[in-house]
Amino acid sequence: MFKELSKVEAENLLILRGVSSTAITDIIGRCPVIQLAEGQVLLTAGQLNQNLYLILSGKLSVYLEYPGSDSVATLDAGETVGELSVIDDSPTSAYVVAAEDSQVLEVNEDAFWRMIMESHDFACNMLLLLSDRMRSSDHTLLKNIRLRKRFQRDAMVDALTGMYNRRWLDLQLPRLINRHVRNEEPLCIVMFDVDHFKRFNDNHGHDAGDDVLIQVAKTTLLSLRPTDLSARFGGEEFVVMLAGIKKELAWIVAERLRKSIESQRVVTEQGKELLPVTISLGIAESRIGDTADSLLKRADTAMYNAKQSGRNRTCLE
Ligand code: GH3
Ligand code: MG
Ligand code: MG
Repeated sequence: MFKELSKVEAENLLILRGVSSTAITDIIGRCPVIQLAEGQVLLTAGQLNQNLYLILSGKLSVYLEYPGSDSVATLDAGETVGELSVIDDSPTSAYVVAAEDSQVLEVNEDAFWRMIMESHDFACNMLLLLSDRMRSSDHTLLKNIRLRKRFQRDAMVDALTGMYNRRWLDLQLPRLINRHVRNEEPLCIVMFDVDHFKRFNDNHGHDAGDDVLIQVAKTTLLSLRPTDLSARFGGEEFVVMLAGIKKELAWIVAERLRKSIESQRVVTEQGKELLPVTISLGIAESRIGDTADSLLKRADTAMYNAKQSGRNRTCLE
């Protein structure tokens, strides 16, 4: 299990680079070399560790969750592991496992601190190593923040149409209402639903139905001002928020949208042109004391009236 550290191995160790002190050579010379078989666990997350390990040959893998999960780093010959838990006496934060047959030099706590005291170069190398570790953990942190932002965005966007989804609406609408009530500015909600969409699906298939929803979303976005917000409420139902305008003007916007949808061409993948779909729309304007629910409810009732009175039309609350 123990063997002498060769001169070549010592020269390869980054932590000993430029360290010429004989005192260090002495301390290092008395540290045991440990043979690790492939798969052998050197450090276990959550357990105390009192040794710094200098990798003489082979490769070690680092795992955060458990040995064999996605490895977060590979350490090669010349590198060092275990320094943080030796310095601050805290449990190890990761599993370190031999990725192949490897040899490590085991430097215990006492030897470690003696080397720090003995050699300025050794201490400087340790500082450089620690700053490298901090940089790489900053980098990992940044990657995680970006990933989390992407997940958050994905969770707010409807996968089929690329429009915001109901979850986004539930978060944003109350804020929007508050802002407009506070500034005494009007805010209108237009809710609309594709007419006889079940029949469309039955006649032309679900995929053609999906294409229509994508097309409806596109036309909606194109016929609005960039500051107007819209979302897929669910199924074939959508909501548009028109900020700063009263319901009479909202009615003009809604009618423009209705006509664009009615006149959009619907062509299947096979190139067959289908009858265009129509939508029925309901409009509600925010009042003092409105909640997102009460405002949506009035827009929904207005939309129901548009359906009842013949579809393909816009009704005001
Ligand atoms: P109405 O004019 O009264 O709104 O009639 P409708 O047929 O549109 O209403 P109904 O609620 O009976 O049917 C809605 C249909 O919308 C049924 C459902 O299969 C379809 N639908 C909902 N979401 C999707 C979707 O993501 N893709 C497709 N292709 N169809 C959908
Ligand atoms: Mg419908
Ligand atoms: Mg519906």
